[in-house]
Parts: sequence; C-alpha cells; structure tokens
Amino acid sequence: MFDLQAIIDDIYRELEPQRGLGKVADYIPQLARVDARRFGLAIVTVEGQAYVAGDADTAFSIQSISKVFNLTLALGKFGEAIWRRVGREPSGSAFNSIVQLEQEGGKPRNPFINAGAIAVTDLMLAGHTPREVIGEFVRFVRSLADDETIVIDHEVAASEAATGFRNAALANFMKSFGKLDQPVEHVLGVYFHHCALAMSCRQLAKSGLFLANNGRNPMTGHSVVSPQRARRINALMLTCGHYDGSGDFAYQVGLPGKSGVGGGILAVAPGKASIAVWSPGLNDNGNSALGSKALEMLAQRTGWSVFGS
Ligand code: GLU
Repeated sequence: MFDLQAIIDDIYRELEPQRGLGKVADYIPQLARVDARRFGLAIVTVEGQAYVAGDADTAFSIQSISKVFNLTLALGKFGEAIWRRVGREPSGSAFNSIVQLEQEGGKPRNPFINAGAIAVTDLMLAGHTPREVIGEFVRFVRSLADDETIVIDHEVAASEAATGFRNAALANFMKSFGKLDQPVEHVLGVYFHHCALAMSCRQLAKSGLFLANNGRNPMTGHSVVSPQRARRINALMLTCGHYDGSGDFAYQVGLPGKSGVGGGILAVAPGKASIAVWSPGLNDNGNSALGSKALEMLAQRTGWSVFGS
C-alpha cells in the first residue's frame, strides 16, 4: 500500500497556489460569503484509517451531496418502488433545468438533479411532518459519520428558501403534473434543510464509507445497505453525480462521486476508501474546480479509478 498521507500532502501542496480557482456559487446569498480560498481533503480507508490535508475539519454546506443520503434513506424505506417516481438516467442538463422535466411529463431523470431530489423528498414526507423527516435525515447522517456534532446551518436553509425561485418552479411544475403528493412548501422546506447540512471533509468521507465497503460501515460495524444497493448507488453517482459534467468527471477521475454547489465532492473508491474534497470555486458545470483536479490527481496516483489503473 502506498503512503496516502504523502500523496494527499503532495496534492494539497501542488494545488495550493490555485486556491480560489473557479466561481463561488452566489445564487444562494449565504453561500456567496464563503472564503473562496478554502481547500480541504480527506480520505478514510475501508480499514478505518483517516488521512487529511488543508481545511479538512472545517464544516461547509454539503448542498447536493445530501441527495446521496436522502436517496439511501428512501431506498431503505420504499425499495425499488422509488423508481416509479424518478428515473436513473443521466440528465445531460443543468442541476436545476426545467426543460427536460416538461418533455418527460414531470418525472425527473434521476435522484441527483434538483427535481429528482425534490421527488424523493416528497416520498419521504408521506405520513410525516417536515420536522420529522428533517430529524430523521440528520440522525441518519450522524450515525453514518459516527458524529453527533453534525448540524444543519439554518441561515443557509433560510437564505436558500428566500431565493429558491427556481426550485419552487420545479416543484410547482411537478405538482402540476400530479407528481408530488405533499404540499410544495413542505417538500421544499425539507429539501432546503437537507442541502443546508454542514459537514467537514473528514465527516463527509466517514459518512460515505459504507458505499466503499459493500454497504457496511467498517468503523461502526453498521450494515447500512445491502452490497447490491451500495453498488447501485455508486452506479448512480458515477453516471449522474455531477450533472451535465458527469461524463467528464468519469473520464478525468473515474470514481463514483457527488458534488454540491457548496464546493464539496464526495467520491467513492469501491473496496478502498471514501474521499471528500472541498473548494468553493465551481467550474462551468457547477462542480468544485479545484476539488475535481484534486480527485483526478488522487485517482492517478492511487490507480483507484474504477476503470483500471
Ligand atoms: N440547494 C441547491 C439548489 O437546490 C443544491 C444544488 C447543488 O448543490 O447542486 O439549488
């Protein structure tokens, strides 16, 4: 086994001069205030060993990475029935695109675009109050990361709710197609709170470890999902985890991953490790610019790409 600490330190050092690369998301005012020069990396191996560099212990807004945890919860509750509500094909369009949704009768392409996560959230609300669903979500992520300190940043949630006109449009659009059962305000309220979960790279890498280890978290011993389900969630992350940049991410990095507009990316090296990177500046597809580079370098230096070394 190679020296992962040396690898991660080298990547950090080599990319440090480029801190601030990309454009920080500003459509959620609270996110625009984050220091663009932040840069953190964390790797947690399936043996439970953690390697970190830079701002790995600073909490940031995980945004769309929350869609992975929400999907995992929903699959646990509803099983394969969720695919009646949302597809599992790459969208090839932006995270908040409405065009495709109209063409396809209000059924979102996959659970990792906004419309898809909104549909999954609607399912989770069946028979529950928004507060219950948010509480369950936070408890779930805390248990995955084995860390009770993880909390929602309520200012981010409020900031997004105040400016989330596009998401409101998506939700209303789906409602008009009869594709949402719950009140739009409830669905959006829960969705915004999921996105506003604040986590560090270290916490995020720990919480994704079950996906690298056939569904079982090796640090807590908890079986989170079956091996088959872990494999399937990884497949969705690989094909749909980076919006219309998913193909490029697969080409450059070759790992299942999910990005968020807060600048975080959670990546999974099956059988090896869970990896989280954070740098707020985004590339043209809305994925962390420096974070993507860091993962590309890591995949090259470890040979962890799922497509071969
Ligand atoms: N909360 C963000 C939104 O709905 C999530 C987008 C993202 O992280 O890609 O706009």
